[in-house]
Amino acid sequence: MFDAREIETVGRLLSVPQKIVLVSHKNPDGDTIGAALAMMHYLRKKGHEVTALVPNEFPRYYNWIPGAGEMIIFNRNARAVRAALAEGQLLFCIDFNSLDRTGNMAPDLAKFAGKKIIIDHHLDTSDEFDHYFCSTASSSTGELVYEFIESLGDKALLGVEEALALYTCIMTDTGSFSYNCNHARTYHIVAELIALGIDAANVHKLVYDTYTENRLRLLGFALSSRLLVWDELHTAVIYLTKDDLKRFGYQVGDTEGLVNNGLSMENINLAVLLTEKDNQIRMSFRSKGHFSVNQLAHEFFNGGGHKNASGGTSKTNMEDTLAKLKEVLRNSKEELDYTVSL
Ligand code: 5GP
Ligand code: MN
Repeated sequence: MFDAREIETVGRLLSVPQKIVLVSHKNPDGDTIGAALAMMHYLRKKGHEVTALVPNEFPRYYNWIPGAGEMIIFNRNARAVRAALAEGQLLFCIDFNSLDRTGNMAPDLAKFAGKKIIIDHHLDTSDEFDHYFCSTASSSTGELVYEFIESLGDKALLGVEEALALYTCIMTDTGSFSYNCNHARTYHIVAELIALGIDAANVHKLVYDTYTENRLRLLGFALSSRLLVWDELHTAVIYLTKDDLKRFGYQVGDTEGLVNNGLSMENINLAVLLTEKDNQIRMSFRSKGHFSVNQLAHEFFNGGGHKNASGGTSKTNMEDTLAKLKEVLRNSKEELDYTVSL
């Protein structure tokens, strides 16, 4: 799975107590939070001093993951983040492919004096790191954290806390085992996590059956009043303005997963979610089948991610962003015209 020399080198670094800093990506999802927290518990068991950092707030439905309350949030407490980085000897970058995915925190990470280690499953890994534990063939970074721990011969250190965190990674990054989930290895790892004593159905409930009333009503509103279906482009777009978000008392995480609803229609191969945030539009892209949203996000919307799930941003207003999106897609009309079959 990983380069044997990389494992040996990092294994040696971890054989003596270190001050370790873990960092998750901006607009955190279940994978980046779960993978960082699993690493936190594991590395502490190995005798290290560990601090977990995150650029901005994560959704409230991940608060229950053991250790979540200890994460230091940069946009709330930059001083504590900088102090941890100044003291740290090793930096683990979890679930992102380049430092700019940490937003305003990136310059501080770039200045980090110790070794930078990346554990990630995105495309287009940058060359800003010293040690690489990357594979795009894994469901999630959580899965790679499991592989990392196993490669270091430390499987015996895994307990319920790591298992809860890692199961959350795999469950959320596969849409509850509906995409990115065709590797037998994923299920072997899940079997091991369940054998450690977690209740998988309960984890699902904690993440997906904990909506606020506002969030459920926002979903209903988005689907009934903010859904555009561009049949000829096999595309469904949901757009939410700042006022829409305000009306439904938007909280971080309320729009996570919303984009997938567009893909649930037959003959729709691309789903896009546009959300107006401050002075820019956040974009989420999902596709089924061969259309690469990574390429779309990378070429036109300052973003990237995976072939079937990517994100990006637009600096123009909603109307102009929608117009640009339609124009770009018209030029890819043939690429979007296919039927997913067996
Ligand atoms: P989401 O749509 O859920 O925000 O993101 C989908 C995927 O694309 C995730 O794997 C995420 O890490 C990646 N992603 C989201 N936004 C960006 C971005 O602005 N730049 C890059 N390179 N990747 C992104
Ligand atoms: Mn991920």
